[in-house]
Amino acid sequence: MVLTDKLGRSISYLRLSVTDRCNLRCVYCVTKDFKFIPHPDILRYEEMLRLIGLATSMNISKLRLTGGEPFARRGFMDFIGEIMSRHEDIDLRITTNGTTIKNVVPDLKKIGVRRLNISLDTLNRQTFKEVTGKDHLNDVLATIESCLSAGIKIKINAVAMKGTNDKELGVFLDFARKNPVDLRFIEFMPMGDDTQSDRQFWSADDILLQAKEFANLIPAERTPDNRGPARMYTIENGKGRLGLISPVSSHFCGTCNRLRITSDGQLRTCLFSDRTYNLRNILRNPKLGDDQLLRVIAAATRDKPLGYHLLESRSGNEGVCTTQMSSIGG
Ligand code: SAM
Repeated sequence: MVLTDKLGRSISYLRLSVTDRCNLRCVYCVTKDFKFIPHPDILRYEEMLRLIGLATSMNISKLRLTGGEPFARRGFMDFIGEIMSRHEDIDLRITTNGTTIKNVVPDLKKIGVRRLNISLDTLNRQTFKEVTGKDHLNDVLATIESCLSAGIKIKINAVAMKGTNDKELGVFLDFARKNPVDLRFIEFMPMGDDTQSDRQFWSADDILLQAKEFANLIPAERTPDNRGPARMYTIENGKGRLGLISPVSSHFCGTCNRLRITSDGQLRTCLFSDRTYNLRNILRNPKLGDDQLLRVIAAATRDKPLGYHLLESRSGNEGVCTTQMSSIGG
């Protein structure tokens, strides 16, 4: 079975949030009145493994584990190990803030993790504290270093914020020159109710223009490793690359191949849409089996919206959806 929608987009990528808890409180991610999902509603790992099994049976070949902070959930390393032992061919990725994992990098490597996305919005310790609420910049840098020594590939994601990290473009490019990482700026998306994104929005085109003042950038070839939504550039005389992700100014809805499942088992077919499908109730109903889950996932996928319509129809600086990113997972 292959999952496709009415527009002919086929789905091959699942993003699964394992928790909405996080040790950081990033300004763009957690809204003021956020409420944690009650513990009983969070899926157990066995329930997530069942969903992953179903996803692979529907030809989903890429799985990203995210959060909240995925490594903040107890038993997460064993969970990854279990996924790898059941699905050795799966293209497993993890998105993390990298603050707590420098000592487990060798174990990650042993389990078979080959790539990590690490969120890092600034290379300045004070700004890091202001953005995340915690003084963990050096821990993240140590994680990146351990991963690179262990041979784990690193993508760094920085949310582009005018007035916060726009003055650091030169420093970031130096970092990417010295380190073999993909450093990607992602446009600030208006998620949740009290979004600050309009005030701080810094477009991918502006970033590119400004980056060219610091480096000679050459558009990178499209390779199997470079097929995602990021526009990638190699940096002359550099080991790393610059990437720009523009979900707001230049959407990539037409090629979207993703589904998301939140940690409480809600299927979201579009990041920008609040429409969810409750898989948890089906998972926990002993009278309903995998066939019912498959039916709901397939029907939901058929109606997968084009998120840019939702972006365009919002008024003023309101959020595109009411759900904050920390409970969706990015
Ligand atoms: N805790 C992990 C981390 O920090 O990477 C995973 C969860 S975090 C929600 C996933 C990604 O969402 C991060 O790369 C973060 O920078 C991005 N993100 C969160 N809110 C965003 C927003 N409003 N606009 C753009 N990116 C956002």
